[in-house]
Amino acid sequence: MEPLSAATRFLNEANRFLVISHVDPDGDAIGSTLAVGEVLQQLGKEVQMVNESVLPRKFRFLAGSERIGSPEEVDIERFSHVITVDAADIRRIGSLHTALAPDTAILNIDHHGTNDHFGTMNWVVADAAATTQVLYEWIENLPVSWTPSLATSVYTGLFTDTGGFRYSNTSEDVMQIAAKLLAHGAPAHQVAEEVMETVSRSHLHLLQQALSSLSFAHNDQIAWMVLSGEWVHEQKDEVEGIVNYARNVEGVEVGILFREVKSQVWKVSLRSREHVDVSRVATSFDGGGHARAAGCTVIGSEKEVTMRVVSLVKELLAGEEIV
Ligand code: 5GP
Ligand code: MN
Repeated sequence: MEPLSAATRFLNEANRFLVISHVDPDGDAIGSTLAVGEVLQQLGKEVQMVNESVLPRKFRFLAGSERIGSPEEVDIERFSHVITVDAADIRRIGSLHTALAPDTAILNIDHHGTNDHFGTMNWVVADAAATTQVLYEWIENLPVSWTPSLATSVYTGLFTDTGGFRYSNTSEDVMQIAAKLLAHGAPAHQVAEEVMETVSRSHLHLLQQALSSLSFAHNDQIAWMVLSGEWVHEQKDEVEGIVNYARNVEGVEVGILFREVKSQVWKVSLRSREHVDVSRVATSFDGGGHARAAGCTVIGSEKEVTMRVVSLVKELLAGEEIV
């Protein structure tokens, strides 16, 4: 059966659904959660939306975002059916994955090439720019109406995962869908202002620290930055976009940000410009992502972790491994 029909059939199997996305949610994770939540509501289903992390402030303008709860608010036993969005593996949804009963039906909707198909039903479109692009196609085929809030949720995922329509995943389809979403009431200017054109002071403070650590290797084709220290541990929703400063340096192919999440535990964000598949680096550390944007968690001292990751990127850049 086509994934679209199978996903629709999944909705007919229950009256109550839990919708969940990955920890440290970005615009696509939040937009996808809200879009699926609104679709289910329009279909007359009972729905609860949840995320392990506190939503970044900049996404709180999205209608319904205040209804995305935390895991403590979920009575997991009430849900036989769960929909995950933008999560490449089940651990990405955070602590709730251990609470799911083994017979829980999971619809896994995603666009990561590294997705391990953990669902009972998997709709993974690796060449979609965002999970909300997959949802757009679904919504067009469901008996629901486009409202400004639904259009805005879907648009926000497309806008953020394409870096504001600048990355290589900005296809003709993406632009056509975006235009239709504007026609359905998505406020393009407001979304851009809220999620990209406004920064908090904490973000600038982090950027300041990150830039002061900027280092280069491999003929200046690799650039990396480090964020460490206790105050950084509390700032995870303010780091989005910082890794791009490393990747964007002229001549750099791979930009990396190492962020200490607690002592000896490092969240690594990888971005490439043109030809290195950084998801291969991330998967070798048990993470994942896309060819041009990927992430993983690595344990060790700052020196060990930066050297291990940078060496692997060097190997990819040096040789036959280039994709
Ligand atoms: P970021 O660097 O912005 O955290 O993530 C970049 C991309 O890699 C996103 O698509 C994100 O979902 C994915 N990603 C980041 N960290 C992980 C991880 O630990 N595991 C997996 N599977 N994907 C990740
Ligand atoms: Mn995404």
